[in-house]
Amino acid sequence: MRNLVLILGDQLDRQSAAFDDFDPEQDVVWMAEVAEESTKVWVHKARIVTFHSAMRHFAEKLRAEGIPVDYLKLDAAENPGSFGAALEMAASHLKPKKIIMVEAGEWQVRENFRARAESLGLPLDECEDRHFLASHADFAKHLKGRKQLRMEFFYREMRVKHQVLMEAGKPVGGEWNFDQENRKSFSKEGPPLHAAPRCFKPDAITQEVMRVVEARFPGHPGSLADFDWPLTTDEARLCLQDFIENRLANFGDYQDAMWTREPWLFHSRLSVVMNLKLLDPREVIAAAEKAYRSGSAPLAAVEGFIRQIIGWRGNVRGIYWHFMPGYVGLNELQATQPLPKFYWDGQTEMNCLHDAIGQTLRYGYAHHIQRLMVTGLFSLLLGVRPQAVHEWYLAVYVDAIEWVELPNTLGMSQHGDGGIMASKPYIASGKYIQRMSNYCSGCRYDPAKSTGANACPFTTLYWDFLMRHEDRLKQNQRMSMQVRNLNRLSEGDKTAIREQAEAVRQRLQA
Ligand code: FAD
Ligand code: SF4
Repeated sequence: MRNLVLILGDQLDRQSAAFDDFDPEQDVVWMAEVAEESTKVWVHKARIVTFHSAMRHFAEKLRAEGIPVDYLKLDAAENPGSFGAALEMAASHLKPKKIIMVEAGEWQVRENFRARAESLGLPLDECEDRHFLASHADFAKHLKGRKQLRMEFFYREMRVKHQVLMEAGKPVGGEWNFDQENRKSFSKEGPPLHAAPRCFKPDAITQEVMRVVEARFPGHPGSLADFDWPLTTDEARLCLQDFIENRLANFGDYQDAMWTREPWLFHSRLSVVMNLKLLDPREVIAAAEKAYRSGSAPLAAVEGFIRQIIGWRGNVRGIYWHFMPGYVGLNELQATQPLPKFYWDGQTEMNCLHDAIGQTLRYGYAHHIQRLMVTGLFSLLLGVRPQAVHEWYLAVYVDAIEWVELPNTLGMSQHGDGGIMASKPYIASGKYIQRMSNYCSGCRYDPAKSTGANACPFTTLYWDFLMRHEDRLKQNQRMSMQVRNLNRLSEGDKTAIREQAEAVRQRLQA
């Protein structure tokens, strides 16, 4: 045997560089389901099923093409449970001369494979991941000479480089960003009528994986009762088409809006298939741009959607690889509280958290504003240790992979990186949630109140956060209005808020 071509669960891309020189006569694809990937954090059952079933479907597709695949199933008697030991086993029976893989999507996984290949005395050929629109070299070029990283500048460079929504060297519509037209809330009647997203009933392969996961990880969070994620490239394309036809036109307007028992609204549900590399972001971007050019979706919606992918997604990946391994340990605000227990079961009287966590446990999904301005906001205001928050987000979302999850959680949401990712902490009181959703109307708390028996814990903790971090926030121009408002409170109000915030923290620690 010549090369062992190692494919991880988030590398399910037939066009990847790992296959460039593949010769079925001399090479073998190696894939392994290992328990350590589901236990290093307390992984949601739906995330485990998504990865393993998508891997099994991919392996079937390769075999159908005549590509030899050596596949280690989770429930195989000989499975040693870790990548390192599994690779050692494979190397001893396949005896390859070299290992080829696309660079891993997690720093520690990459380091482990490098160390294991070295200990096995095998050369490891790591190829760049062509899935992304920006290479590491592109991002390094973008960083050069910059004191501050801001997504908007990276986004513009990528628009020009890939000629997305460009005309005669200028952005289509004369502006780079149409955000001021986006981000509306729903009227009292709730979201306009919209079709449910296309979903995919578990086939025989998925059902088999579900059985294994239920038997092997019965105590893990989440449920499989509603499992319906796309798990192949064909399904991913159907999902994309469904989004473009039925939801893209309203994406911009309602991308920040939330509504009880409406998990999907006008979102695409495409993160999981892009992150597993089943779907190329170029294909997604081209389909969205085509919808604008053919008149079926407005520019503000299309530009807003494309910015999430070219801008945010590309930018967080660049930040992850540039700042790791130190990034994961950052805790600029010195937050030390434990994560409240209700994050794992949704049992809280706070209606917004109950709904967002409830759907997370049911589907392994919450949309961006639920992640940032409900679950993320609460842990930031409460002062939870960012590493505990990171472990929760890495565990509970089907699309969670460290390169994308960590900068979003530790950086954007918890401000643990002190501003590398976002120029200010994303903080708000319960009134923001009231404006963007119907959660507060069904809640026992009042978002306008910061003290008293029915004070909204978000609102109490918001003012308390401003007080705790006032010296730091005063230095930040973008926070000046919030700090000025704080200074309008009387000393008596401030003391009462501090006491109530302390009581909330004590209660949640008990
Ligand atoms: P849509 O709302 O339809 O957006 C379209 C696409 O844009 C997404 O599929 C995604 O690929 C991309 N996108 C949008 N926002 C971001 C962003 N901030 N960073 C990167 N890509 C973005 N996304 C993940 O893919 N995996 C994660 O583990 C993850 N963890 C997050 C943790 C926190 C605390 C926060 C605030 C955000 C996180 N995100 C993560 C980003 C975002 O919330 C999800 O990408 C999005 O909710 C996925 O749903 P969707 O596909 O329906 O997205
Ligand atoms: Fe959430 Fe506060 Fe609104 Fe209740 S009142 S739903 S806790 S923001």
